Amino acid sequence: MGVWIAIGAGAGALLGIGGIFLWARRRVRRFSRQVFGTDSLLQGLKEADVAHLESPRSLNGCDALLLPKILADFPDFDPNLAFTYARRYITEQLAGKEKLTVYRIVISKYLRTLAQKTIVMQAAVGFTENGQRFQNRYELDYTFILDEGSEHIAANCPNCGGALGFGETDCPYCGCRVASVLNNTWKFTAMREN
Ligand SMILES: [Zn+2]
Repeated sequence: MGVWIAIGAGAGALLGIGGIFLWARRRVRRFSRQVFGTDSLLQGLKEADVAHLESPRSLNGCDALLLPKILADFPDFDPNLAFTYARRYITEQLAGKEKLTVYRIVISKYLRTLAQKTIVMQAAVGFTENGQRFQNRYELDYTFILDEGSEHIAANCPNCGGALGFGETDCPYCGCRVASVLNNTWKFTAMREN
């Protein structure tokens, strides 16, 4: 009699453990599906690790600090447009690399002198070469040259056609805002691995 009770209790305990195991496995799968989009937690973690590797490591961005200073000099400066140009420039510079991905771009420095102003950007870039995945960090100089002799500066007001001096944000003839024209004089002048 005692033996049967023991066996019954043992079987009950086993069933209970099995139930908990099945329940836990279901929970893990559901969690994994929600977080990683796959039923296999291990697979999800592996993919998350790769995604982490490919995410930009330690970009020294100071966008929030530098943007107000840039906007003080160039009220119409559009960082998103500048980043779009940066992506295009990087893609041109690294033409021929397979699976090129520009993960993220930040502003890391703003260098001002009387003659020129340079926004230094940092970009995290990944590409494949000979079957191997690389992740590099590049520094780009985006320069506005305040040199009267420079051909970049020759701009005319889109409204009245009047000649514009460098650094002018309003047309001296008709008064219309011309900063967007002057934005065209921003040039990428250097790109280096960093
Ligand atoms: Zn004008």
